[in-house]
Amino acid sequence: QEAKRRGGNCYQFFDEIQVKLPLSLELQTDLHHALDNQEFELYYQPQVSIATGEMFGSESLIRWNHSSEGLISPMKFIPIAESNGSIIEIGEWVLKTACQQVKATQKLISQNALHNANGDIQNCIPPLKVSVNLSGRQFQQQDLNKRILDILEETQFDPQYLELEITETTVVHNIDASLAKLMDLKAIGVKLSIDDFGTGFSSLGYIKKFPLDTLKIDRCFVQHIDTDAQNRAIAKAIITMAKSLDFKTVAEGVETQGELKVLQDLGCDSIQGYYYSRPLPFDKFCAFVTEDKRL
Ligand code: C2E
Ligand code: MG
Ligand code: MG
Ligand code: MG
Repeated sequence: QEAKRRGGNCYQFFDEIQVKLPLSLELQTDLHHALDNQEFELYYQPQVSIATGEMFGSESLIRWNHSSEGLISPMKFIPIAESNGSIIEIGEWVLKTACQQVKATQKLISQNALHNANGDIQNCIPPLKVSVNLSGRQFQQQDLNKRILDILEETQFDPQYLELEITETTVVHNIDASLAKLMDLKAIGVKLSIDDFGTGFSSLGYIKKFPLDTLKIDRCFVQHIDTDAQNRAIAKAIITMAKSLDFKTVAEGVETQGELKVLQDLGCDSIQGYYYSRPLPFDKFCAFVTEDKRL
């Protein structure tokens, strides 16, 4: 009981095994047709700078609109898609869709900026960045670089505004292979981020070798950071380390003003969480970026 309380949600690996179970065999079969049936949708969750209060980007998060089950969480179907291999096609759809949609949003923002030249404020700094999650299996693909380059070419998306999120668990699996892969990706001109940082249970030595831009502090260390001294100590250590290695930090899952205040005091660069905005469907996201909503 005590271990559970203290561990919180940090034991993500076990959580993923647990959430695998509820997906019935029928749904597992349906997953194979979901892409053809156009049942996937991307939501976008804003990321906002603590220092300026401005939104600078978002993370794309996949949703499955199942015809009878309704909205199904990626926590449920991504692990299945990983194990049956369909994640490769799904992942490519995600990347392409995110590039297309965010490119459209970037245009919308610059048009809006022209209209607002008389001084109206909007809450984001153009051009908007987008973070896209890469699954372990995608990351391990031999021709990953070519696949990404093809999508960038097809969508005419500027790679400097694309950030790829790779979980710590994925990169520590094979440090040398990951390093080579990350160097290849970096050469395309994209940004790289370690997702769920702190949950990989690994030695930290690898981190200084990797050509990273951002560390995303996992939500399990962010929640209740204003009242939980242990979480505060962990977040502080991550932020201090990130600064000395010249990586930006994003705190995941910030829900309250109190949590934000502590992260600000610790020198965290930015946040992503319900406190600023929930993940939004594309049309709502487009409306959001042209509003004036500072942190
Ligand atoms: P993640 O990449 O760590 O994404 C952050 C998750 O935290 C999202 O869950 C987001 O909705 C949730 N979140 C953000 N702010 C808050 C908050 O303030 N409170 C709480 N309680 N939760 C918050 P979501 O969208 O359910 O996604 C879960 C995971 O599924 C993601 O974790 C990621 O690992 C995976 N995932 C989502 N989309 C994709 C995708 O396109 N490809 C791959 N490979 N994985 C994806
Ligand atoms: Mg992520
Ligand atoms: Mg994350
Ligand atoms: Mg997380």
